[in-house]
Amino acid sequence: MKALRLGAGLLLLYGQSPDSTQAVRFLQKEVRRLCRFEGRAPLTPGGQKAEAYLIKRLRQMGYSPQRQAFSLSVYQITLAKARTQVGRQRKPWKLGADFLPAADCPPLHGEWLVDTLPREGYAWWVPTPQPLGTVRQLARAHRVAVVIYPLQRLVGSIALEPDSVAVVFRRQDLPQAQRISLRLKGRLVQGHAANVWVKRAGQRTDSAWVVGAHYDHLGRMGSLTFWGANDNASGTALLLLLAQRLAQSPPPPYDVYLVAFTAEELGLIGSQAWVMAPPYPLAQLRGMLNLDLVGFGEKGVAVVGGSDQPAFWERINRVRVQQGWNVALLVRPNAPNSDHYPFREKGVPALFFYLQGGPGYYHDGQDRPPTLTWQATYPLLRWIEGILFSP
Ligand SMILES: [Zn+2]
Repeated sequence: MKALRLGAGLLLLYGQSPDSTQAVRFLQKEVRRLCRFEGRAPLTPGGQKAEAYLIKRLRQMGYSPQRQAFSLSVYQITLAKARTQVGRQRKPWKLGADFLPAADCPPLHGEWLVDTLPREGYAWWVPTPQPLGTVRQLARAHRVAVVIYPLQRLVGSIALEPDSVAVVFRRQDLPQAQRISLRLKGRLVQGHAANVWVKRAGQRTDSAWVVGAHYDHLGRMGSLTFWGANDNASGTALLLLLAQRLAQSPPPPYDVYLVAFTAEELGLIGSQAWVMAPPYPLAQLRGMLNLDLVGFGEKGVAVVGGSDQPAFWERINRVRVQQGWNVALLVRPNAPNSDHYPFREKGVPALFFYLQGGPGYYHDGQDRPPTLTWQATYPLLRWIEGILFSP
């Protein structure tokens, strides 16, 4: 009910203006395009296409996009097949639905007997979830061939390199198998990935804002593609929309750096690279605003870093209050969960905005463009613009 009323309220405030309709159309179109790039993993063809696309798009808007390149390795699982034997029945497992290799799972090819205890040369069917770190230690100590680990939800990730312990996640409610055969191939790629950024010159150059969104996602795993519509084609699309609107508006009071980060999913590597070699002195920044997971909003907006930066948050929140945007607001303390974090570590005031709601698809094959509702993305855009245009 609460969500319904909130939705209706937003609709009254913003939903029917031609500007918001146009904005949502822009966002939908850009997310569809960004999701064509095979999951946008760094150092993959999809990641390279996404980078080239952002450069092209920003150039069309009249900017001179810059690349900030850094070296990186990425481990990609290129083939993942599993088959089990339960009683007399042999059954293939479906990738992404029944099982998902851990991103750092080394190549495997063979068939193993299953045991619920860690035994040398066996597949260890871990009966119930327990700390994965401990499981890996035990598996290493007992020379287990492969760990079959239960999860309620199969959630993907991406790794820098393979681990020595093979971990395969399985859906928690699958019947225990007596045998399992696995075929996994992987490839370690080394190269350069790049953040893409532009500057919108402001009236003053003695201070500046950074607005960021990561454009990378998990890429592919075997036949499974992680589209990353909400995570974070949505934020990248919002960054592009902001770029277009800033290009067409009078100059903002201060310079604005718009940064599409890469390698966020590998551990905030792109934003780390930025703060290590910033094109603008960090000490002179007014702040950093990070957009990640902004395709919904039925349950309001969450701001990470609001509750532990009271003075900064007060200034930011005042803009929202003045705009009359009544929204469910979750103000959270800082956390190392997206690209605002390296900025905070360097003493820059920084906030991470995300929108709550939606079906909860996350790091899986379901996070696709048609699922996004854009319920509160336009008000968030207006809020960010309000901040950038505050004196
Ligand atoms: Zn993300």
